[in-house]
Amino acid sequence: MPRPPDNADGPALGRAAAIIDSPPPSAEVMPNVTDLPSLIKRHAAAAPRSQQIDMGPSEAGEPCTRRLAYKILDWHKPGRDLDPWAAVQGVAVHTWLAEVFRAENQRLGRDRYLIEQRVTPVTDADAQLGLPGWLTGSCDLFDRDTGLVTDWKLTSPERLGHYTAEDPGRKYRTQAHLYGRGLVNAGEHVKDVSIVFLPRATYLDGLHVWSEPYNPAIAEAAFKRLAAIRDTLAALDPEKYPGRWGFFPTAPGSCRHCPWLKPGSRYLARGCPGHLDPASPAESIDSLIA
Ligand code: SF4
Repeated sequence: MPRPPDNADGPALGRAAAIIDSPPPSAEVMPNVTDLPSLIKRHAAAAPRSQQIDMGPSEAGEPCTRRLAYKILDWHKPGRDLDPWAAVQGVAVHTWLAEVFRAENQRLGRDRYLIEQRVTPVTDADAQLGLPGWLTGSCDLFDRDTGLVTDWKLTSPERLGHYTAEDPGRKYRTQAHLYGRGLVNAGEHVKDVSIVFLPRATYLDGLHVWSEPYNPAIAEAAFKRLAAIRDTLAALDPEKYPGRWGFFPTAPGSCRHCPWLKPGSRYLARGCPGHLDPASPAESIDSLIA
């Protein structure tokens, strides 16, 4: 029996066979996906948030005094290659949630929700303390009907478990009350502050909401602490005497994303080795590198 021609089943099958048999495209014609991380990093580094020099509400309650002191002096950063991916995801989720509440305002036909509202927690009277700026920032959400301030935090499963079991910690708590203070300064009636911890890797029913009554004393305590750090910087003058950076105490929990972290550094003017727990220094170093 004569062998049928290659295209005996029609031209379509012939074309499919040609595709299956053909070698994969060469590396030159394939999209260069290996450039994607650099592209994302470059774009994230150019974002206004990354270039912010002034201190904002998200930093004012930082537990590490040394990090705040570096920030106040706008100290030279060691230039580590920080992975921006968590921050990129956070920005994307904030943008999406802002759209949700804009649509809700539209549905209601009124501005029940203030969204990404610029607020300034510091008043002229507070500024007399000698603060490092006005701590202006954007409050994620304010519900005018209930007087509730909300801040979104996109959170890893590990941290979500921690925040569910504990309180949100000094930094986040201070941030929420500073937004409250800024909204009060703008004439809004603030009753409560909240932080919504959104799960990064699981489902919506895993979110955790923390809230408490608005307390201006928490914002005022943050102002006093910042003023005290600024006074201490003026008195110790670590620009002239770099060895005095060591007088600024550290705290655990903030090192991994700290722009002044330089693992192993012995010269605090060039970078900080991180918070070293005197009880288990090896473990604290491991946690910085992990
Ligand atoms: S690396 Fe850690 S200990 Fe050092 S300044 Fe930053 S947060 Fe503080």
